[in-house]
Amino acid sequence: MSDLPNPSASTSADADAIVVGGGLVGLAAAIAVAKTGLQVIHLAPPGPVDNRTSALMMPSVEFLRSAGLIEQPEALGHRLSEIRIIDATGRLIRAPETLFEARESGLEAFGWNFANQRLLAQFRTRAAELPNLETRRLGVAEFAFEAILPELTLTGGSRLRAPLIVGADGKKSLIRSAAGFRARENGFTQAALVCDLELTRPIGGMSVEFHYPQGPFTLVPAGDNRANLVWIDDREVLRGAKAGGAERLIPIFQAKSQHLFGPITLATPAHVFPLSTLSVERAGFRGVVLVGEAAHAFPPIGAQGLNLGLRDVADLAAVLKGVATTNPSWAEEVSKAYSDRRAADLARTGGMVDALFRSLLADMLPAQAMRSAGLWALKLLPGLRRQAFSLGMGIR
Ligand SMILES: Cc1cc2nc3c(=O)[nH]c(=O)nc-3n(C[C@H](O)[C@H](O)[C@H](O)COP(=O)(O)OP(=O)(O)OC[C@H]3O[C@@H](n4cnc5c(N)ncnc54)[C@H](O)[C@@H]3O)c2cc1C
Repeated sequence: MSDLPNPSASTSADADAIVVGGGLVGLAAAIAVAKTGLQVIHLAPPGPVDNRTSALMMPSVEFLRSAGLIEQPEALGHRLSEIRIIDATGRLIRAPETLFEARESGLEAFGWNFANQRLLAQFRTRAAELPNLETRRLGVAEFAFEAILPELTLTGGSRLRAPLIVGADGKKSLIRSAAGFRARENGFTQAALVCDLELTRPIGGMSVEFHYPQGPFTLVPAGDNRANLVWIDDREVLRGAKAGGAERLIPIFQAKSQHLFGPITLATPAHVFPLSTLSVERAGFRGVVLVGEAAHAFPPIGAQGLNLGLRDVADLAAVLKGVATTNPSWAEEVSKAYSDRRAADLARTGGMVDALFRSLLADMLPAQAMRSAGLWALKLLPGLRRQAFSLGMGIR
């Protein structure tokens, strides 16, 4: 940031920017915005423990390193160097079994798999090192566009104002609805069951996806013989299986993983996440920007959600670097520039995941044929495979 404004000089602002939401994207955004030199208040009320893991593709890992959010990925996560896709649909037209290797694209890894808790702890350490970033463990109860500045009423009743508001408050974002962003949301009857498994045979650096008609069953390497499971299926099926505890789950896991990994034990309790898609018409206006799941959500296939959220943060930081904060309408300009800059990536990624998810579930023969032909083409054509991975990895 070239010219730093004094937040309390000509207005009654409490900070230059207020970031709302203490998830991974909110924390990354608070740090990235503070690193541009602005005075930042981060509102991060305590929430439920996030026991998911995130596969982050190499561009996201590079961003985390360049933004000083992490140092070496090997200190925190597990390398993803191969992806194996097994068509277990039993359909008339099936896809070939396909193995994608990172080294074929000249890469050491497609990405890294991190426990969200470990990333959160690492980001909090970084946030605490920044003198211009103040964290408050309070949530937002109300948002309003006041005459001069947007104003937040906090859960304790106090009020805060800032020219720039960053909504990182997740799928049910209060900032999104109260600021009047137009959003489209669709719920699915499918959900995702997530837990950690101990396998008898090591999975190495390979992510294995079994594609079943009701949704994929994916094992992601989590070090030694451990794997993170993401199983997508009908919500009621998953709830029933979870309610039956390990006794019910283990035989299902053995069968769905086609007994490839020997006896399996449950390493963590299972959690079920409802699935939906959410998109916004634009990601910023009037000094308010949306990042992460406040702006976009989709089913966890192809590891896209947090990767896209980190690209939001990278673009927000890039827009802030080019802005002269001496201009009284700088925050309004930032929100407009951010919205323009994010539009293509949000549309492309949302469309890609939606199409992939629907093709996995489609019962119609033409859709099955197209998916199968697509995987054959990817299997046989190295150039196409490299292009597909560039798209999936979010290489820009
Ligand atoms: C099963 C599953 C597996 C996934 N795996 C991957 C993966 O492998 N790779 C990948 O890239 N993505 C993955 N994702 C997606 C990824 O987890 C999300 O995109 C990411 O966690 C979203 O982070 P966020 O900070 O935007 O939202 P959240 O983590 O939902 O954080 C929102 C925060 O806002 C806070 N908040 C809410 N309301 C308020 C308020 N009024 N005031 C203040 N704070 C508020 C909440 O307490 C919360 O802390 C997966 C998702 C699921 C469901």
